Amino acid sequence: MKQRPSFPARLDVTLAKNRPNAHGVPVVSAASTSQAPASTTPTAGRAKPMPPAAAPQGHGMESSAVRTRMVQKLAAGGISDTQVLAAMGAIERHRFVDSALINQAYEDTSLPIGLGQTISKPGVVSRMAELLRNGHSGKLGRVLEIGTGCGYQAAVLSLLASEVYSIERLRGLHDRARENLRHLRLANLHLLFGDGMQGYAKGAPYAAIIAAAGGEAVPQAWVDQLAMGGRLVAPVVTPGSPGGAQALLVLDKTPQGVRQTILEAVHFVPLKSGVA
Ligand code: SAH
Repeated sequence: MKQRPSFPARLDVTLAKNRPNAHGVPVVSAASTSQAPASTTPTAGRAKPMPPAAAPQGHGMESSAVRTRMVQKLAAGGISDTQVLAAMGAIERHRFVDSALINQAYEDTSLPIGLGQTISKPGVVSRMAELLRNGHSGKLGRVLEIGTGCGYQAAVLSLLASEVYSIERLRGLHDRARENLRHLRLANLHLLFGDGMQGYAKGAPYAAIIAAAGGEAVPQAWVDQLAMGGRLVAPVVTPGSPGGAQALLVLDKTPQGVRQTILEAVHFVPLKSGVA
């Protein structure tokens, strides 16, 4: 029987050192995430941050081999955008989950990240990133992500876009994402604490907007903050569906108006208003 990889995995320091990684993705510079723009809400009275997720270091199996297998499965499952596959291969998903779940980090499954939220499946993250890139040859421009969660998808996006603004409404997760992302030193990733239903006007217009939580409808602020020619990908509750089933919505903002396409069924945590 094939042995399951053991974690903690060996540290892959490639990203932090700003060298091209095994997949040839030239990424990141060395600025700290603490230089990200100020929160969109006052930070006074903030709760104690949640403990950081597992920080594997030093021992065990080379995690890039496990990621390579994950990437092969994503490709076999229909993801063909090589930039997306490279980004999925570069970001260490096991660093974004709790130590008790590390063995499942490279399975195509969502996992709990605390406060009732989940890290999205690699299959869904790559599918949405591919839709967002829409076959572009270069990098995306500015991207807005609603629902930072543990910060995994934000990290993947930061390799595919010139700038990423990622908003989270739960302070505990916002802090945790900052902790999870620190080692990557992604200078182009800006973590914001606030209600993403308002978007983030200061960073607009966005070449792309992606939501990791599903609501009844796409907030008008997102459409307004999308650049002309930009694309939004979000889970939305299918109108009239029993039990609030969701589907993936692709919205293109064109000079002729907004074009919306509903794709496959998905299952995301709910989009909620306000902060907590
Ligand atoms: N992007 C994450 C997925 C996180 S789950 C990943 O990499 O796996 C979705 C997140 O959306 C949750 O953390 C939830 O708190 C957040 N969320 C829900 N409604 C929101 C809102 N209005 N503004 C910002 N974040 C929101």
